[in-house]
Amino acid sequence: MARIGFLGLGNMGLPMAKNLAKDGHEVVGFDLSKAACKAAGEAGITVAGAAAGVVEGAEAVVTMLPAGQHVRAVYLGDEGLLAKAATGTLFIDCSTIDVATSRDVHAAAAGAGHPMLDAPVSGGVAGAESGMLTFMVGGSEEAFAKGKPLFEIMGRNIVHAGGAGNGQAAKICNNMILGISMIAVSEAFSLGEKLGLDPKTLFKISSNASGSCWAMINHNPVPGIVETSAANRDYQPGFAAAMMHKDLKLSQAAADHVGAATPLGAEAAALYTLFVNAGNGGLDYSAIIKLIGGAKD
Ligand code: NAD
Repeated sequence: MARIGFLGLGNMGLPMAKNLAKDGHEVVGFDLSKAACKAAGEAGITVAGAAAGVVEGAEAVVTMLPAGQHVRAVYLGDEGLLAKAATGTLFIDCSTIDVATSRDVHAAAAGAGHPMLDAPVSGGVAGAESGMLTFMVGGSEEAFAKGKPLFEIMGRNIVHAGGAGNGQAAKICNNMILGISMIAVSEAFSLGEKLGLDPKTLFKISSNASGSCWAMINHNPVPGIVETSAANRDYQPGFAAAMMHKDLKLSQAAADHVGAATPLGAEAAALYTLFVNAGNGGLDYSAIIKLIGGAKD
């Protein structure tokens, strides 16, 4: 049993922290939201009085925060977690953030004598609750070996993607593929329908042919084709369009930073910006077919 600090007890963080506590670890958590702290307390997690409280006596500290600016604010500076923690404390940032911030924070952690891992996840709230998350991990071999037993409690598929920031790089590259392919599937199924092709027939053909892809098979945007698809639930997420939008913007910021050309990623980001700005951020990302197909509602 170890003492583990946990900062950010929101939709993802709370169930992850609960799984660590269920495994017998002493989890000390904190969140700026009083409601999140209350829910954590009710779930058997010790709630610290302030963010810095989570590092006291902790062998490892996990953070699960909204975006890069929150991670910078929490980790860096004289009052930040890195400054307050005992030398050698393992830091694991599971937030999905920009690669540049992740690498800056890794460098600051190394400067302060702490091993660090970036470990963004996929699998959503359901994966967090069931302990079935996928972790994409960046950092040294030694830090990865230390963090692995904790990932194995919260997740099922754990991949060491390389050095500092490579977990974030893997996450945004993967989600850029997903966003682009969802748009491609939406275009093809909308075109097929206008050409008089039954979407179920197109699915039967394409899902077994060269056009097949994960988005088509698992999250098909047309209702009535794939049982698990959000399209069958009025596009209730699932994986919200706002989240896809965030990840596509992160991919474009990263591409800009390193001078990579990602023309289809840029187009996908622009289409999700239009879709989210029209008030659809709370719908599943597969609902982009409404924009592509010109649906009236
Ligand atoms: P959330 O908004 O529910 O939780 C974030 C929590 O961080 C909030 O409770 C907020 O109060 C807290 N917080 C913010 N600043 C803080 C600070 N300075 N100190 C303490 N707490 C602070 O978000 P979420 O859905 O749990 O997502 C967290 C991260 O995981 C995001 O980066 C998101 O992109 C990523 N992610 C989410 C999902 C998903 O399905 N929800 C899936 C994969 C990855």
